[in-house]
Amino acid sequence: MDATAINESGPAPSAASITLENIGKTYPDGTVAVGDFSLEVRAGDLAVLIGPSGCGKSTILRMINRLIEPSGGRILIDGQNILDRNPVELRRHIGYVIQNVGLFPHQNIRANVGTVPKLLGWDRKRTAERADELLELVGLDPSRYAKRYPHELSGGQRQRVGVARALAADPLVLLMDEPFSAVDPIARGRLQEEFLKLQATVRKTIVLVTHDIDEAVRLGDKIAVLAEGGRLLQYAPPAELLSRPVSAAVGDFVGADRGIRRLAVTPLRPAVRPIEASAATDGRPSVDVGGTLYDALAAMLASDVTEVVAVEDGKPVGLVSRAALFDVPKEDAQASV
Ligand code: ADP
Repeated sequence: MDATAINESGPAPSAASITLENIGKTYPDGTVAVGDFSLEVRAGDLAVLIGPSGCGKSTILRMINRLIEPSGGRILIDGQNILDRNPVELRRHIGYVIQNVGLFPHQNIRANVGTVPKLLGWDRKRTAERADELLELVGLDPSRYAKRYPHELSGGQRQRVGVARALAADPLVLLMDEPFSAVDPIARGRLQEEFLKLQATVRKTIVLVTHDIDEAVRLGDKIAVLAEGGRLLQYAPPAELLSRPVSAAVGDFVGADRGIRRLAVTPLRPAVRPIEASAATDGRPSVDVGGTLYDALAAMLASDVTEVVAVEDGKPVGLVSRAALFDVPKEDAQASV
């Protein structure tokens, strides 16, 4: 479990699976925050917990790093029951990102990012190098930002520092509680985009809590929809959740415009009608065949046309009509996510 350098060329070696087995939490006043909750998160996946306020999302998240002690059940990280472990020691191996970040105001950014490595006893030089490496990774040039203090950064930059700090000691898993909700919607979209790129590099196992279905669809490999008392209504990849909600309750929760959201997570390829490479396609807008149905729709709307050219490696490979976007069978949408 020693920290290893993040390897840009492949998955980090230390992602671990998370298994929650029948966990529950009853508070001393008798409130059953979570009744009986089970979930499996594969190593390297990002699982989203979503549901109405008060349904137990944060309680579940905090049971994983034992900020809250479960009343019952088992929590396994890579098959090991973490309820046997010392909670303080455990938390050094679990990254935790919260809404208002919680940076230490009187420490500079480099020291903030180096918090856990320092606690783990890394020497100064290694800690500072690691902090700078992480700042680089989250898009903050260390020569510019490492010596600043938290109040000298924007909200979005502080959020990036929070992510860098959570990743600094190469944690086994990362827990994120409404990580992007404190920033304005434009900065939020950019942070989400950057975060997805970062996750493609570090491939951590992540559990993220949000109340924003768009964020869930955008970020999640799988989404768990919860109801009061931590009752799990559905746990599925975004496209499946949007195209096949298991109940009216889930359908209502994911929203009336889920048709559009589904386009955004469904690959374009099944909608492409192949053409000869030599066919004339001049003048028509094009989209990359590796994109989504939504990319094609956006290109059509932008140019006020009903057909676009799908290109692969810059060469035309087919045509996509507006009707075809809505004809992609839901099974395809589900299978390809
Ligand atoms: P969410 O994150 O989904 O908004 P929480 O996990 O914060 O929900 O809370 C779940 C339920 O547990 C809520 O009804 C909340 O009021 C209750 N709760 C949370 N913390 C405590 C506590 N310390 N004592 C009693 N009830 C609590």
